Amino acid sequence: MSRLDIKSQDQAQIVVESLYEDMERRVAASHPGLCPVDTAAAFLRLSHGQSCGKCTPCRVGLEQLENLIDDVLDGGKDVTKNTIDIIRTTAESIRDSADCAIGFEAANMVLKGLDGFLEDYISHVEKGVCASNIREYSEAIPCVGLCPARVDIPGYVSLVLEGRYNDAVKLIKKDNPFPTACALVCEHPCENRCRRTMIDAPINIRGLKRFAVDNSGKVEPPKKAESTGKKIAVIGGGPSGLTAAYYLSLMGHKVKIFEKRKFLGGMLRYGIPSYRLPRERLQEEIDIILSLGVDVELETDISKAEEVKKLKKDYDAVYIAVGAHAFQSLGIKGEDSRGVLSAVEMLRAIGDGNMISLEGKTVSVIGGGNVAMDVARTAGRLGAKEVNILYRRRRSDMTALNEEIEGAIAEGCEVVELKAPSRIEADKEGNVKAIWVKPQIPGELDKSGRPRPCDSKAPEERYECDFVISAIGQKIEAGTFDKLGIATDRGRVSADEACIVSKLKGVFAGGDCVTGPATAIRSIAAGKTAAANIDEYLGYNHEISVDVEVSHAKQVNRPPMGRIQMRERPSASRRKDFEEIEEGMTLEEARQEASRCLRCDHFGMGSFKGGREQKW
Ligand SMILES: Cc1cc2nc3c(=O)[nH]c(=O)nc-3n(C[C@H](O)[C@H](O)[C@H](O)COP(=O)(O)OP(=O)(O)OC[C@H]3O[C@@H](n4cnc5c(N)ncnc54)[C@H](O)[C@@H]3O)c2cc1C
Ligand code: SF4
Ligand code: SF4
Repeated sequence: MSRLDIKSQDQAQIVVESLYEDMERRVAASHPGLCPVDTAAAFLRLSHGQSCGKCTPCRVGLEQLENLIDDVLDGGKDVTKNTIDIIRTTAESIRDSADCAIGFEAANMVLKGLDGFLEDYISHVEKGVCASNIREYSEAIPCVGLCPARVDIPGYVSLVLEGRYNDAVKLIKKDNPFPTACALVCEHPCENRCRRTMIDAPINIRGLKRFAVDNSGKVEPPKKAESTGKKIAVIGGGPSGLTAAYYLSLMGHKVKIFEKRKFLGGMLRYGIPSYRLPRERLQEEIDIILSLGVDVELETDISKAEEVKKLKKDYDAVYIAVGAHAFQSLGIKGEDSRGVLSAVEMLRAIGDGNMISLEGKTVSVIGGGNVAMDVARTAGRLGAKEVNILYRRRRSDMTALNEEIEGAIAEGCEVVELKAPSRIEADKEGNVKAIWVKPQIPGELDKSGRPRPCDSKAPEERYECDFVISAIGQKIEAGTFDKLGIATDRGRVSADEACIVSKLKGVFAGGDCVTGPATAIRSIAAGKTAAANIDEYLGYNHEISVDVEVSHAKQVNRPPMGRIQMRERPSASRRKDFEEIEEGMTLEEARQEASRCLRCDHFGMGSFKGGREQKW
């Protein structure tokens, strides 16, 4: 027998590893509306299973915690709010006395839950049911529940499979008048918990929407309701304002949009670069909205409190959807040098058709979000010879989508992580010469769950450059609304989830100006919500409906297979022009991808209760 030998993985271990992967996918596909107390109990059991059993707090304590949480879930007369207190003290004592991370982290997870969803625990104790709306129909299908506009995803995916593209777009438009914009740029939260993940990978929902809009031909809007004679003013012609205008017009109201800039579209035009969202495709969608008889006053800045008050007097309702267009300053020395720009300023100029030239220049972009990637890639297209993206955290902590980071790198941008800008150096004429950065080291986790960037002991570094573009976030220009007493202390316009501004009767607000910089689909959902609630405020109950029949789901075998990913033009050809970079699916790919959908509208716990929602 040899003294040492090389161990190879045995068959059992290989199978266990694949079971871990199955389990990971199953957890990733957890339904967004699951009872949080039940979920906490399931995770606790999993953690207990990892206990080595050497220390009593972990071995015995976790079991007691499990029993207590089960008691809460089962209900009964012996369960009171005191049971919740016992859960807390038990978890605290396990956390403080367990010998290793297994017991400590398991107890911590329970404590996090007690802080995060205490009302669910209390509801189980008092009413025997979960407080969150898991039974609500809107949460029933994971993808539909996670699309902010609640688009009927299994419906349109099945229509794509049948080749009924026009019907698919009609169905989408019931809830979202920007199917093309979303098909091209939506961050697709709907895919996050797609149940197909249990089998292989989420359905490429955005990609299928793109296939539908690319093949649908012209989709006429539905017939408008009879005129109500009511007038609504919309301040801001971005996706939120335009969405509200679309649905309010369909309901028979007369809408006028007041827009500060030369063109409509908001950040879809003045933010998102045209290589991701071609302007003519955006304009086509805007034209359909305007074809309903929406009036528009361009280059009209409603920035005085008196102007809003006048609109309130002249119109029956007002919708504020002014977005977040003010830029955050870097707050460092030299920021006023020539050549320091904000991402918002640069993209706004381009949106108005004023391309700046960066021919042969070196550009440093500050930030780690999608906007930073957009300006970096745009700088390359404007002729910059070198583009670096300086970020104070690690690349893995960037908020930009991974595909955006990969896209920027493929186009030649360099991502330099763990560098915090400290000052900008200018020449005698005041032109940028370099940016100085302080190297960082990842520290303890902050509130966002990412390691806090901390100054390292390494000396400052100098990056020679001609332009510094700051992409560290946008703010709301809330001054006007402050004067009306409707802006919160964080500078956002204050409105509730129904988009109602409680301090001013007849005034509604939504989109980025309420949430802070978010996404197109969230602002579209706000426009839809505002339209419904303005209609109700005016004393009506108009319904937005669609006459598209979705075929019954068939019981077919759906074996594991690869997800169809979107392709992009080769980086060498796309990096120098503003032509669209993404390529759509082929018919063969779209059919295969659509056929992977599990039709959770029919099968599984998400089945549409009471039938499909054909109106709202
Ligand atoms: C660079 C960049 C890239 C992005 N990429 C994506 C992406 O890939 N996917 C995604 O989903 N989202 C993306 N977003 C975010 C998305 O564009 C916004 O969340 C969305 O446009 C917000 O819509 P909104 O209607 O609330 O506001 P906006 O789109 O900002 O529209 C507000 C409108 O109000 C007008 N306005 C402002 N003040 C006044 C006033 N006083 N009087 C009259 N009019 C006024 C503005 O000119 C503008 O037209 C990106 C944003 C940026 C900046
Ligand atoms: S709009 Fe976005 S979130 Fe909604 S279905 Fe389409 S891709 Fe998904
Ligand atoms: S399998 Fe289909 S219906 Fe189910 S969550 Fe995914 S996209 Fe939605």
